[in-house]
Parts: sequence; C-alpha cells; structure tokens
Amino acid sequence: MRAKIVAGNWKMNKTLEEGLSLASEVVNMVADEVSGDVKVVLCTPSIYLHAVGKLVSGKVSLGAQNAYEKESGAYTGEVSPAMLATVGVKYVILGHSERREYFGETNAQLAERVNLVLKQGQTPLFCCGETLQQREKGIHLDFVKQQLTESLFHLSAEQIAKVVIAYEPIWAIGTGVTASKEQAQEMHALLRAHLASKYGQVAESISILYGGSCKPDNAQELFACKDIDGGLIGGASLKARDFVDVIKSF
Ligand code: PEP
Repeated sequence: MRAKIVAGNWKMNKTLEEGLSLASEVVNMVADEVSGDVKVVLCTPSIYLHAVGKLVSGKVSLGAQNAYEKESGAYTGEVSPAMLATVGVKYVILGHSERREYFGETNAQLAERVNLVLKQGQTPLFCCGETLQQREKGIHLDFVKQQLTESLFHLSAEQIAKVVIAYEPIWAIGTGVTASKEQAQEMHALLRAHLASKYGQVAESISILYGGSCKPDNAQELFACKDIDGGLIGGASLKARDFVDVIKSF
C-alpha cells in the first residue's frame, strides 16, 4: 500500500502569528476530523519551522520548502538539510517550479539536494511538471520524464523508495485551472511506468502527489485516480478549513 500524503505549501505567506494559528487549527482539526492513514505535512517558510515544529503532532509533520545542496559553510542565506533536521523537519520540497523558474535550480543541483535530504533521513517531495507551451507542443511527457531521470535515477532502489514525487503542471499552479483527472492520471501513470523501467516493482510503492489548484471541490475526483496518492496544496493550504477538507477528500 502506498502512503497517502497531503502536503501544504504555504510559500512566502503569513506572519509568524498567523502561521502559528493556522498550524494549531490544522493540527486540532486533523485530530478531530481525519481518520485513516493519511499523512499531513505543513511546509512553512523556513523562519517559522522551529516554532511550528513545536505544534505539530499526530498525523501532522513538519516540512521545508527547500534546502541547499551543501552540508554547511559559506553559503549566505541558505539552509541545509542537516540544519532543517535540527528543528524537526521530516519532509523537504525540492525543485518546486517557482524555485526552478525564479532561482534557476537545475536537475543536476536537485540531484545533489535529494542525496543530502535522504542522508538526513528526511523525505524529499520532488516536484516535476511542464509548462503550457510544452504541453501544447506535445513534449510534456518526455520533459517530465527527463526531470526524474536527471534528478533521481542515480539513486539505489532502496533510496528511491523513500522519495515522494509531486507532479505539478506549471500551468495549473496558482491559476485556478486544474488538470483534469484524465490529464493528471495519464501523467502519474507515465511517471510510475518510467520509475518501473528503472526500479521494477519498487515503483508501485512510490507515492506520486498531484499539485496545481487542488482544492476541496476537485480533490476527491483527483485523489480517486489509481495513480494519484495525494496532493501538494498551495493556495488551499492557507485556510485550515479548506486544507482539512482537501485532506478529508480521501
Ligand atoms: C504549489 O505551489 O505547489 C501549488 C500546487 O499551488 P496551488 O495549489 O496554489 O496551485
């Protein structure tokens, strides 16, 4: 059975006070309302991780939105997986399309980050996804496969089994346009087949999350797809009620 995961990506939102109140609300609502084996992750801005880490419990874990590919040293402004581990971070988003676009992160660099995150015993939430232009040209399947090949295929079977993948079509992120369940399932099945081409049966155990304008009114049909094992949620994770309703869509 693959793990079911719903991760909230707060991005660069909320004051500390607002973040703490959102995290407490989510933790309490999940404890009261969510049954079953779904895992919930709060990926807060890094400056709030330490404080939010003291509030998470039960099904809810702490996640970071990024980590650098060096263990320590003269890298002003960066945060390493080892540092994140000291404040209780269990999951790390890597390769979000906003990081790739605005900060020039490359597949090769992400491969190094995946290594360090795994070394800390954390779970990488590895993001991939195509632009609208790539989809219209019909090169989206190959493009996303290549993101996996270049950032993940150096891993051993034991290591890849610890990675979670998030398919996030860039044209659906923060736009209100969601991939249809057919479009999402097609890509998720393709990614699983691609993983199987290298890792065989291990591919069946890897959770692949969908991200891109996923909210309470569309989560249920997306999560019902055979190869969709949860979601990476941006906008809808900023309101406890919406986020918990997405979680309850399982
Ligand atoms: C995201 O940024 O990971 C995301 C999925 O955002 P949104 O849900 O707002 O589209």
